[in-house]
Amino acid sequence: MDVLISEDLRHPAFDRLAGKFSTVLDGGLWNDQARLKSQISEARALVVRNQTRVTAELLAAAPKLIGIGRVGVGLDNIDLDAASKLGIVVVAPLNANAVSVAELALGLMLALARKIPAADQSTKAGSWDRAGCTGIELEGKTLGICGFGRIGRLVADRARAFGMRLMVFDPFLNADSTALPAAGITFCERLENLLAGADFVTLHLPLSSATRHLFDARMFAAMKPGGYFINTSRGGVADESALLAALQKGRLAGAALDVREVEPPAARSAFETLPKVILTPHIGAFTVEAQKRTFEAVADDLERLLSGRPALNFVNIDRPKR
Ligand code: NAD
Repeated sequence: MDVLISEDLRHPAFDRLAGKFSTVLDGGLWNDQARLKSQISEARALVVRNQTRVTAELLAAAPKLIGIGRVGVGLDNIDLDAASKLGIVVVAPLNANAVSVAELALGLMLALARKIPAADQSTKAGSWDRAGCTGIELEGKTLGICGFGRIGRLVADRARAFGMRLMVFDPFLNADSTALPAAGITFCERLENLLAGADFVTLHLPLSSATRHLFDARMFAAMKPGGYFINTSRGGVADESALLAALQKGRLAGAALDVREVEPPAARSAFETLPKVILTPHIGAFTVEAQKRTFEAVADDLERLLSGRPALNFVNIDRPKR
């Protein structure tokens, strides 16, 4: 078998790939490690989104594998070191969905500020409660951006157009870099400084052992009273029970979560009952444009690898070393 797709990933770009290479699509495979291990032993390429856990153990069972295509950006479900050690190319079109995620973050910020979901629900229920829907303006407010990579910078550009002040926390930035759109941005050395100064905090950093639960009870207590929290990065970066407590105590005015610690959430939580919380089902990358760019880039690169050519959207090595 040439290509194994272990999640329910369908797109015309993959149909074209399947026309050229023998392909197996099994949408439930990610949830059945034993079957996944047996199937991957024959595969030359693996395609995943974020449900398949591509561990060192799984890769050890894949002697023919030369490439892994990640339909999306976050690499927290792939053991990149293990893949690199085995000479397996990991492909992830990192720029394909950045605009979509940035636009969602702005949309969620506007929805929180103007209480759009609650206003919609109450109006559809027959009420005309204009005063109850009183919101706040973004202009003149401070946006704290945690993680100033591809998405964080696009968010900054767009927030600037709304007249927001900008604060950034990203310990791995070279603040001297001329590539940084630094004008008018306050760069914070400590996360607490950003949290104390920001009316809205938006997360755009990766999930890693260093960032898991970076946002804990202490960090929510450091936020400006009445602040808003927006997470379109990865659920594990924030401790959900600490966030819930901060919302229930009235310490925070609202939160919008596109990503959760467990996806889909194992059970309904108190988040669902709070009108000041907006929940979306990890849709940051789900636009027609981003999906098209992502699927096409992964399919093109897998075709290149399977035909002996180097990948373009690689995140470790551009050609297999096995
Ligand atoms: P990126 O790699 O371009 O930028 C991430 C930035 O975070 C980097 O500048 C890095 O220095 C910084 N960073 C790392 N550790 C940090 C820390 N401890 N504190 C503050 N900053 C830190 O990544 P990106 O493409 O901008 O993506 C950002 C996040 O968005 C990722 O977590 C990704 O998984 C997530 N994402 C979500 C969706 C979605 O559907 N909601 C879609 C795409 C990406």
